[in-house]
Amino acid sequence: MRTIYFDVSVPKILLTKLLAPVFSGVFFSPLSPVRYAELPDQPLPGENWVRVKNRLAGICGADMALFFVHAHPKITLAALPGVPRAFMGHELVGEVVETGRGVKDLKTGQRVVLQKYLPCCSMKEIHPPCPHCREGNYTLCENFSEGPAMPANTGAGFGDHFLAHRSQLIRVPDSISDVAAVMLEPASVSLHAVLKSPPARGEKVLVIGAGVIGQNVIQFARVFQPNCAIHVLEKVPFKKELALSMGADLVIEGDPYEAVARHTGGHLYRAPLGNSTIVGGYDRVYDCVGYSATIHDGLRWLKAGGDYVLIGNSLAPVGFDLTPVWQQELRMLGVNAHGSETIGGKKMSSFEAVMDLYARKKIRLDEFVTHRFPIKEYKRAFKTIRGGREKILKAVFEMD
Ligand SMILES: [Zn+2]
Ligand SMILES: [Zn+2]
Repeated sequence: MRTIYFDVSVPKILLTKLLAPVFSGVFFSPLSPVRYAELPDQPLPGENWVRVKNRLAGICGADMALFFVHAHPKITLAALPGVPRAFMGHELVGEVVETGRGVKDLKTGQRVVLQKYLPCCSMKEIHPPCPHCREGNYTLCENFSEGPAMPANTGAGFGDHFLAHRSQLIRVPDSISDVAAVMLEPASVSLHAVLKSPPARGEKVLVIGAGVIGQNVIQFARVFQPNCAIHVLEKVPFKKELALSMGADLVIEGDPYEAVARHTGGHLYRAPLGNSTIVGGYDRVYDCVGYSATIHDGLRWLKAGGDYVLIGNSLAPVGFDLTPVWQQELRMLGVNAHGSETIGGKKMSSFEAVMDLYARKKIRLDEFVTHRFPIKEYKRAFKTIRGGREKILKAVFEMD
């Protein structure tokens, strides 16, 4: 198995972080914790396991954060006992090449996507499962660091093959192309976020950041509430255009505080030291960026009692003024990928909901992949994405 992984070695991580300001090439050098290496092929670790050959794997913000070593050693995730190697690439579509004896509902040649990529009760075969897994919210699993250890060196999307427990995979119907299938994971994140706090009839909502996650938040918000105003904050011209075609009503231009006040009828107050705020504002904000600056401003653009849905995430502590949260009695809602949804009284996984909406032609998934890189040119891929000079929405690795 030839695959890309992140070596979770604190000395290596600290050295890379230390050198980065003076040696920008450190991420592409042998000092980086990211490795593209040949690991010995191993037999399936159990009868309920499957071997998958990757076809496409999307590069996501989380992969970028790993590659450029953004993770801070004091975040909660770093306190959880983990694995010595983090295999990269979770937005993938692959083909089953081997199944264990216990796997009755998958055959070789069938295509699959990876739904559960972090340890949880089902892949650890813990019975009965924890309350969150029982509800289908596997990313909140209480046994993440408990119970039996997960098999080592299973691989993931950025490589030729990987091993997965049957419960981690979802079969892709033939009607979904590879480029659409590779979007099922990020689209599920956006769907999960919108359904945590769906726009109500007549509301005005703001989407901050119109990358892949933001574009999908726009299209799901539109599907679940045709009668609401969806505004978008985004700087990149081609993303603005796409946002409008996905169902946004307008893109905020100019000074964002003035624009928010104008578009929502809120009152703008300006004070010294660049301290501005709005009383009134949007009913909901979907923050698909999650930086200090977007949270700091976004909270001030929210109406009293409004929902702040935090979708963009950071692997390091952020800093922002928390006063609007208590002063305006706001609700901050976090989103950890995807899980279980209830739509029209019916319970289903986020992935199933996305596939159902796609099958009914309510949403689009085919046009997001803009760039393809051969896996062996992964350094060029990461460099190009970070460079920001190309019109990249979703870049994927192609396996050769
Ligand atoms: Zn992702
Ligand atoms: Zn669990």
